[in-house]
Formats: sequence, C-alpha cells, structure tokens
Amino acid sequence: AAKERGEPYCWYVPEMDRRAGEEARIGAELRTALDTGQLRLAYQPIVELPLGRLVAVEALVRWEHPERGLISPAAFIPVAERNGMIVELGAWVLREACGQAARWRAELGDAAPQRISVNVSARQLTRPGLAAVVAGALADSGLPASCLTIEVTETAVFEGGRAVEALHELQRLGVRIALDDFGTGHSSLTLLQTVPAQVLKVDKSFIDEVTMRGRQAVICTALIQVADGLGMTAVAEGVETAEQAAELYRLGYRLAQGYWFGRPAADLPVVRDLQRADSR
Ligand code: C2E
Ligand code: CA
Ligand code: CA
Ligand code: CA
Repeated sequence: AAKERGEPYCWYVPEMDRRAGEEARIGAELRTALDTGQLRLAYQPIVELPLGRLVAVEALVRWEHPERGLISPAAFIPVAERNGMIVELGAWVLREACGQAARWRAELGDAAPQRISVNVSARQLTRPGLAAVVAGALADSGLPASCLTIEVTETAVFEGGRAVEALHELQRLGVRIALDDFGTGHSSLTLLQTVPAQVLKVDKSFIDEVTMRGRQAVICTALIQVADGLGMTAVAEGVETAEQAAELYRLGYRLAQGYWFGRPAADLPVVRDLQRADSR
C-alpha cells in the first residue's frame, strides 16, 4: 500500500505492516461480500456408521469472490473475527442454514437430514445476544430447535467468561452444543466438567492415523469412552478412507464426517451410502 502511495521508504515496510494492509483489504472486501451476497454455504454430510446413512449436515461458509474465485473460510473467518464482522457474518450463516434445513424438511420429509450444524466463533459467543439471534433464525425459518447444533471450539469456550453462560442460554432454547476440534485445545478435559455440550467432535488430527493402532488409536478409544461415559455423542472428523471408517466403527464410533463420505457441497450432499444400493 505504501508503494502505491509513492512513499519513499516503501523498502522499509515491515512484514507486519504489509500483512495489516492485506488484512484491511480483505476486511473491506468482506463488507462488500456481505452487502452484495457473495457468501454461500456448503453442506458436508455427517453420517451414521457403518453404512453411511446421512443423519446431519455441517454448514460451512464460502466466499465467491468476483475476481479471486472461491475463497476458503480459513482465509477470511480469522479476519472477520479480529475486525468484529464475524457477528454479522455469523448471524447471516445462522439464518441461511436454518432456512435451508427447513426447506429440506418441507421438500424431503424423512429423507431430509435430521440436524444441521452451524459453527459459532468466540466473538459471537462472548457477545450478548447470540441466543436471541439463534431464536430469531429458528422462528423465522420454522426449524425446530432440536434440529440445530451449534459447534464451538474449546478455545472459544475458554476465552470468554461469558461464553459458558451463552451456551446455557442456547441450551435453554433446545439446540444442541458440539465441542468442535475436540482434543486440540489447552484444557479439553477440564471443559467437559463444566460446559454444557451433547456432542464431542474428535479432531481430524486424531483420526488420520487411527488405523496404525498407535497413539492416535489409543486416544480415539479414550475419547469415545469419555463421550459414552458422559452421555455425549462422539463424531469422528476428517475420515478420508474406508479403513479409517471401519476402524472407528470397531472402536465404538457411530457418527463420522469426512471426504470419504462426502465433501462439502452447494446442495444436499450426495453421500457414499452403502445401504442405498439395496434399500432404494
Ligand atoms: P471445521 O469447523 O473444523 O470444519 C471442518 C473443515 O474440515 C472444513 O473445512 C471441511 O471442508 C474440512 N474437512 C471435512 N472433512 C475433511 C476430510 O476428510 N479431510 C480434510 N482434509 N478436510 C476435511 P472448511 O470448509 O475449509 O472450513 C475451515 C474452518 O473454517 C472450519 O473448520 C471452521 O472452523 C471455519 N468455518 C467454516 N464456516 C464457518 C462459519 O460459518 N462460521 C465460523 N465461525 N467458522 C466457520
Ligand atoms: Ca465445525
Ligand atoms: Ca472441526
Ligand atoms: Ca477446524
């Protein structure tokens, strides 16, 4: 940016300033994206093991940039979290996801996914009013609260003192809470003592080598026992192969998500459903 303005010391612009400029640019363009409808949701299946029956979808935001094409949330969600735009962006995601889930229910009946998962960031959780936004999205779409799962990361829950209170408010609405990327935070097990949550999403990093029967398999076994013991549902994330799915089933996992079963898609995901061949 300094170079464009013709400033003499552009050679001295430190890396941090360059990145701050880049961040400001993304932030400004994100404002336009929200205002002109460049954001989309993709839906990834969450399936029941061993047959891969579709039970839920996770809504994942996408940015269709007019010049740069499809931009990954990893590139703009952190920016939106820092500049605060995540609150508005997150509210849009909630309304869009609830609307889509309600339409699937109306169109497909029993064949519709039973639940939809929406990611909520720390900033949304610690700011008052999230429960009201969720309640509004449910009321306007007509989606029953029991069909919505809110995914939060351990760091999000741990960071703000208000976060746990917000989770209790969501709980009172009747939505489910999932602990996302579980096991990668600083205090995973501590959180389980106090945080109201029904779903434990075991991070992909524990799944990757689960078939090697080494440390990861031990951790996966321990986590399914913790989930079962606490009356929670475990979901194995990032399942990429049939071997992983089979091993996870053997360890006791009944729900999974990952490229093996289906990638995020613009419409209702097509699932690698091993039952469908004979049941339809
Ligand atoms: P996440 O919530 O952990 O979502 C799962 C991510 O893993 C998604 O990436 C998904 O496409 C990817 N994934 C799923 N299965 C596999 C697999 O088998 N292999 C591999 N390699 N990857 C797999 P995506 O869509 O790029 O999203 C990245 C992250 O961005 C999400 O991680 C979430 O933290 C954040 N995010 C996405 N949408 C939203 C949103 O609406 N709000 C907020 N606050 N965060 C969001
Ligand atoms: Ca998630
Ligand atoms: Ca995750
Ligand atoms: Ca993640």
